Amino acid sequence: MTTRYAARHSELDALIATLGEPDYRARQLYEGLYGQRRPLEALTNIPKALLGLLAAELPLAFTIDTLQLADDDTTAKWLWRAVDGAQVETVLMRYSARATVCVSAQAGCAMGCTFCATGQAGFERQLSAGEIVEQVLRAQHASPQRVSNVVFMGMGEPLANVDAVLDACTRLHDDVGLSARHLTVSTVGVVPGIERLTEFELPVTLAVSLHAPDDVLREQLVPLNRRYPLAAVLDAARAYAERKGRRVSFEYACISGVNDLPHHAAALAGRLTGFRGGAHVNLIPLNDTAGYPGRPSDAGRIAAFADGLRTAGVQATVRRNRGTTIDAACGQLRARTP
Ligand code: SAH
Ligand code: SF4
Repeated sequence: MTTRYAARHSELDALIATLGEPDYRARQLYEGLYGQRRPLEALTNIPKALLGLLAAELPLAFTIDTLQLADDDTTAKWLWRAVDGAQVETVLMRYSARATVCVSAQAGCAMGCTFCATGQAGFERQLSAGEIVEQVLRAQHASPQRVSNVVFMGMGEPLANVDAVLDACTRLHDDVGLSARHLTVSTVGVVPGIERLTEFELPVTLAVSLHAPDDVLREQLVPLNRRYPLAAVLDAARAYAERKGRRVSFEYACISGVNDLPHHAAALAGRLTGFRGGAHVNLIPLNDTAGYPGRPSDAGRIAAFADGLRTAGVQATVRRNRGTTIDAACGQLRARTP
């Protein structure tokens, strides 16, 4: 049996036909779920009896285990549970006129980055495209603002689940109506995955998590660097920027005394040359996790790091934290049974 958001447009059409209903009901169903982004039970132009049948034929993939709010209720985090027991987290960040959903691409993650709560907990299973789309639409149901951006920065490594992630991007673009540049795929540096993304028809935004300017330091933070060293990752990212004509962004979690010194900024700027559209670095103070002893850099250190990058011609933005009080900030997602 398919689930509500795994069913494609043609499958919704076929289901309506099987139920002996006229074609216009299929249009109402698709338009309500995707065009209007409403929950099934809110599609009041469809008779209640038919909604009941559709709810049974198209079950949701997730039930809500917990929902937590923070930042004056502008940040929400769901802990979902799938029928097989897999747990996944999703974060909604609302702004005045729009909203961003941070989705998980996997339950857990096999990459083992030392400073990341998901990496510390290990891998559970891949998510399907339908499960990714469901995260976005169920977050939209809770948001008065229109979801305009989706970032694959929740649990898991999107490019280690590349087929489902590309399928989800296509559906978020075609069905949900999101612009490709407002879909951001963040990777720790899975080079074959970046190459797949380069061949992919949609010009989604690529973000690469760097955290270090050299292989020796990066290997301590990101074990995958032993397989795909910095030079290979940056070459793949350069090819992406070239092919898509899009600026690539880089994520850098600032860890006090570990990767946040002036010489790190200078070395990083030295590596980020030759990017079409320039390279853009997002600096994020490390978020606390149980399994890593490092501390976040203080604001002054991060500002100096940003200045160092800018002086060397690399664009830099210091990111504000959201959701830290409910463990919803970058790297803090870690499904746990309450
Ligand atoms: N696996 C992908 C996407 C999910 S992680 C990736 O690694 O890019 C999303 C972002 O959170 C990444 O940039 C990751 O490096 C960052 N992150 C992980 N743990 C963090 C922590 N403790 N503090 C700050 N950022 C963290
Ligand atoms: Fe996985 Fe990304 Fe966390 Fe690394 S930082 S363990 S790749 S989720």
